[in-house]
Amino acid sequence: MPFTQLGLSTELVRAIADQGYSQPTPVQTRAVPAILDGRDILAGAQTGTGKTAAFTLPMLQRLAITASSKRRAVRALVLTPTRELAAQVIDSVDNYGKYLPLKSALVFGGVKINPQINKLRAGVDILVATPGRLLDHVTQKTVDLSQLEILVLDEADRMLDMGFIHDIKRILALLPHECQNLLFSATYSDDIKRLAHGLLDSPVEIEVARRNTAAETVTQVIHPVDRVRKPALLAHLIRSGDWSQVLVFARTKHGANRLAQYLNRDAITAAAIHGNKSQAQRTKALAAFKLGSVRVLVATDIAARGLDIEQLPHVVNFELPNVAEDYVHRIGRTGRAGCSGEAMSLVCIDERKLLAGIERLIKREIPKVMVAGFKPDPSIKAEPIPNGRNGAARSANSRDGDERKHRLGRTRRNNENGRSHEPSSRKSGTRGSSGRAA
Ligand code: AMP
Repeated sequence: MPFTQLGLSTELVRAIADQGYSQPTPVQTRAVPAILDGRDILAGAQTGTGKTAAFTLPMLQRLAITASSKRRAVRALVLTPTRELAAQVIDSVDNYGKYLPLKSALVFGGVKINPQINKLRAGVDILVATPGRLLDHVTQKTVDLSQLEILVLDEADRMLDMGFIHDIKRILALLPHECQNLLFSATYSDDIKRLAHGLLDSPVEIEVARRNTAAETVTQVIHPVDRVRKPALLAHLIRSGDWSQVLVFARTKHGANRLAQYLNRDAITAAAIHGNKSQAQRTKALAAFKLGSVRVLVATDIAARGLDIEQLPHVVNFELPNVAEDYVHRIGRTGRAGCSGEAMSLVCIDERKLLAGIERLIKREIPKVMVAGFKPDPSIKAEPIPNGRNGAARSANSRDGDERKHRLGRTRRNNENGRSHEPSSRKSGTRGSSGRAA
């Protein structure tokens, strides 16, 4: 079915043609007409399915029908878990809306608030925001959500994982009852179901990728290896495969830094991206990676969430994630929008339980391929993963290392917003009585 049959305006169809899309993806085919019809949506769609366009295109159309240069209050709000995802969403809003007279703004933490305030004052139709910074604007009365017509919760599952539920509830309490609500989530936990139940009015339910199923365009493989030989194996794979662009997942920020340093020393250009990096550093690293001047981007799960790098051919799990679902999210970075991709996991003896958990989740065994010269030494015994990561000691659902700290929600959010882990009470004058980061 061509885009013209989805009921989209000529301005939008033109903008889509500029992007080079020939036909809608399944989530777009189903969501666009329903959203244009004013329906609430509950969509199970992972990054890579074209979900951003699925909500952005009809949202733009509905707003454009009644666009007015006099309005000041925000008319559509997209909430995202991370600033990277927020930045990608606003790019989509601006790309698809380029022939429409709509104004957009982006607000997230870790950068100065004043430019955001100025932009909001000038009048904004569409606001893309992370929850913490949006609430800062609410507190400062620099944003008016009372006229909101459309709310999108993008990657709602990850927002809950990151402890944003209270912030989301506070935001929802500010919105008019008649708002059209669109909830996009890669997974349907009970928490998501509860949120959807309270928020959505007879939603159209859309599920385009089977729940917890690894993207089928992705070839998965396990390379068994000894823990200390992982960096060398990674360098070997990059060289022997002549990979020009590979996203590598590390479990911790320090691990990501160490690995990037190792690769750089080995003459393989690499950059690390994680929550302790400033926004400017992250943007620079991502841009360099996209342009090809950096060959390897080493990321933690949170930093990588929502990264949209077109046609990423290779994803490597340098370490398996502690939460099996993160494996699915990670490998979803490759094989996107119909392209095939390859996801490799370097697995040492310590990670056997994590691997078993992943294989249970995706309901298939991942092929194991020994790489010549890197066969594991059978005399090496399993060791607990540093920071208490071994499955026996903890529930498989427990995040750990850098990630575990963030289960407390606020700490996680602070980290995503580029702030230190310093307890709020030690910071002077920048926080409200709730202790939430300003
Ligand atoms: P998303 O799932 O929104 O993160 O989108 C994943 C990627 O698919 C992005 O790079 C989009 O630009 C791209 N994309 C979205 N819709 C289409 C389409 N209909 N045809 C081809 N690519 C698309």
